[in-house]
Amino acid sequence: MPELPEVETFKQYFESTSLNKQIKNIKIKDTRILSIEENIFINTLRGKKFNSVTRHGKYLFVECNSFFLVMHFGMTGDLEYYRRGEEEPKYSKVLFEFTNNHILSYISTRMFGKLDITDDYKKYINKNRLGPDALTMSYEEFLMSLKRRTTNVKTALMNQRIICGIGNIYSDEILFRTQINPLTKINILQEYQLKELFTNIKEILKYGIRKKGNLATYSSKLIIPHRIEEENCPICHTPIKRYEILGRHGFFCPTCQKEN
Ligand SMILES: [Zn+2]
Repeated sequence: MPELPEVETFKQYFESTSLNKQIKNIKIKDTRILSIEENIFINTLRGKKFNSVTRHGKYLFVECNSFFLVMHFGMTGDLEYYRRGEEEPKYSKVLFEFTNNHILSYISTRMFGKLDITDDYKKYINKNRLGPDALTMSYEEFLMSLKRRTTNVKTALMNQRIICGIGNIYSDEILFRTQINPLTKINILQEYQLKELFTNIKEILKYGIRKKGNLATYSSKLIIPHRIEEENCPICHTPIKRYEILGRHGFFCPTCQKEN
């Protein structure tokens, strides 16, 4: 599932391919991907240009003449820019056709992604009660978001209303680096642990962005390449444990990440 580093990579890709080009037409191949009526979606964007892209957590907001195209990539989203006449990417759900004979495809292999339009992206963030962006939040915003929370730290990191941008994979890495057991209650963390957690959130997300979210290239010193059953911890060689949380599988080292 695309998390913040992957979505930041989509942002950079969008910026390098699709800004300041006139949108000639929009083809909706599956209306279920839209959170807004098809006609309104098309009429808002057709004939205009995308001017800039802002990312918040796993969302992109693409500014287009005082409106914003909202992109969410769900479980398997992707973008592909290609020349007309080349083969249309598999699972294309929406095609933005530009006057320069190029097309930007919004791809979703399953139906979890969403496209929407908003006239104010900050209002959109508030309405959806999204927490601060994990990459750009300040330490004060981070503490404020965790205040009065009593859930475990893994759930807190993955809750987009607490912190926006982190999912199952990066939360495993952040907790591994910080040496915190994922089921530790957030309200019993000590100040030094909170500080380390904050620092590691930023460092790991930045590492992911540098690697363009390409998990296959991640250092074997991280836990991400070992998120497979019966792998050993890259630090202490204890077998890594898999557990279920929120219907997903998380991984941790029971030695490096002892229960408090
Ligand atoms: Zn270990």
